[in-house]
Order: sequence, then structure tokens, then C-alpha cells
Amino acid sequence: MHLSRFPRVSLAHLPTPLEHLPRLTAELGGPQIWVKRDDCTGLATGGNKTRKLEFSLAAAIEEGADTIVTVGALQSNHVRQTVAATCKLGLSCEVLLEHRVQDPSDYYANSGNVFLDRLFGANLHEHPAGTDFDAAMQEVAEEVRSKGGKPYIIPGGASDKIGALGYVNCALELLSQANDQGLVIDHLITATGSAGTQAGLIVGLKAMNSNVPLLGIGVSAAQAAQEEKVFELAVETADYIGASGVVQREDVVANCDYVGDGYGIPTESMNEAIIMLARTEGLLFDPVYSGKGLAGMIDLIRRGEYSKSQNIVFLHTGGSVALFAYADQLDLT
Ligand SMILES: *Cc1c(COP(=O)(O)O)cnc(C)c1O
Repeated sequence: MHLSRFPRVSLAHLPTPLEHLPRLTAELGGPQIWVKRDDCTGLATGGNKTRKLEFSLAAAIEEGADTIVTVGALQSNHVRQTVAATCKLGLSCEVLLEHRVQDPSDYYANSGNVFLDRLFGANLHEHPAGTDFDAAMQEVAEEVRSKGGKPYIIPGGASDKIGALGYVNCALELLSQANDQGLVIDHLITATGSAGTQAGLIVGLKAMNSNVPLLGIGVSAAQAAQEEKVFELAVETADYIGASGVVQREDVVANCDYVGDGYGIPTESMNEAIIMLARTEGLLFDPVYSGKGLAGMIDLIRRGEYSKSQNIVFLHTGGSVALFAYADQLDLT
């Protein structure tokens, strides 16, 4: 595996810090908790999509594209990072936004990520939930072509084998930091949605023979579907980097008990987790992804899943801008 063989543009501030959380560790009385700060990737308030976009946008540029077409929920962090990156690289961007949350508040419809999308001047097309977005993106691409442009479609979350390279690379970066710090990682935990983060990480962890188990905390789908999605993408990604066969089905583990009523719908445990991290460590997490991921980690610690001597690393995937979209839905008392 040699990732510099793949085209890449520089968008992220790397390496992101790997930090110990002593006050959270004390509060939970459990294992030592560490955080890998991918909320600090730097682009337009950061987040996990930036690492993926370094590879996705390089592939687009290599194909001669001048217009990026992509998709996400109204409060998509992926869309926000993509439109910012296209500004930086001088590309146009056509965005299909899905209304995945019913009866959105004014905050949800206009603040947080979507506010920044407008600031970056992206062409936003809003669609109802359940639209066939693959077909809709093809249509937009066709329109771009008919006007003489060269479109490139980046799937939701940049979760294809190209975007996943960003998280293969993150696994290498994390292992090298842990080696330098003399830290033995007993478990790595992250939120998992469109699957590219977990798929890329597991490929990197396995290709390096790290023996670090990875747990994805689901934010939308049920467990079987989530694991299948991650596994399929991991296999494709491993093939793509010439490491076929490194990932077995049992390496892909997702816990989807913390989704609550659905994608983007707040849960009490997410609310508690966000407040706990803010008030013990001064850290910001988001209601849709990292907050539910944290809620899962906190609950598993309370249930005694991990021993006090173990080291857990939580990968912070970013998204805190979405807090503003939920300003009227979080209970801060
Ligand atoms: C997209 C996203 C995730 C999930 O990553 P996937 O690669 O889509 O599984 C987690 N956290 C945040 C903040 C995100 O924006």
C-alpha cells in the first residue's frame, strides 16, 4: 500500500491532534479516553469529509472536470466541506439537498451548514426525501454537459473507494501518532453513516496488521444494512489499493442502538453526551453524527464493556456547525 500513487490535492490541516481527555475519563470512571481531532481538519470549520475530498477532488481535476455535482441532507457537513473546497480550487458546484428531516425549524432550514453553503455561493437544488438522487445527479450532470461544462459526480459523503482513501490514510496517521506517543490503542470508535470513514479506517488498520478493533456507531441504518454497506466499500477500497483480502466480514462491526427515531432526529443520550463533552473538556460535537457516536461510547463504558486500564480512541468526525441548526432542540439545562 502506497497512497502517494493516487492523485491528491491538499485541503486538510494534517496530522490532526491525538489528545487525552482526562476530565471525561474521570467523569466516567472508566477506560482512558482519547480523541482523534478530525474536527480540526481546517476547511470551513473542518470535519471528516475534508480528508476524503483530497482524493475525490484530485480525481475530478485529473479527469478535467470543471463542475462538481454532489448530494447531501439540508444540514450536510459533506456538502459544506465540498462547496468550500470547490471555491478554493476554482471549480463550480451543483448541490442536491435532501429534506431528510420532516417539518424543519427555521434554524434547521437556514442556519448551520446550509447557511455556509449559501455563503460559499453553491448552486443549491432542494428535493424532498426519497428522491432518486443517483438519477437526479445524472440529470444535473447532463445539464452541465449541455452547457459545455465537464461535470464530476461525488456520491453522498464522498463515500466511494476514492474518498475512502482519506480514511485509509487517517488509519496510518493515527497508528504512527500512537507509536510515537507509546500509546496502545485497545479500541477505536467512530460514528458511521455513508460508510467511507469506517471502510477506509478498517482497510488501513488491517493492511497495517494493527490488531486495533474498530467500532462504528450507526446514525441512520439498522445494523445488518450498515455493516454490509461498510464491508462492501471496504472490499472495493482494499482492491483499489492493491490490498485485496485484508478485510474480513467480521472486522466490520457497527452498533446501531443509538440512532433513536431516525437520521438527524435528536435523542436524549446525544443531548447528554454533547453537554458532557462541552462541560468536561470544552469540546463541541454535533447532534446528527458525532454526538450520537459519543452517546454510544458513553453508554458502552457505563455498561462495563471496557476495562479501566484500556485506551479508547474516539475519532471526532466534526460537524459542530450543525449545533446552530439544532439551537431550539437541545436541552441545555
Ligand atoms: C459524514 C459524517 C460522519 C459519517 O461519516 P461516513 O463516512 O459518512 O460514514 C460522521 N460525522 C460527521 C460529523 C459527518 O459529517
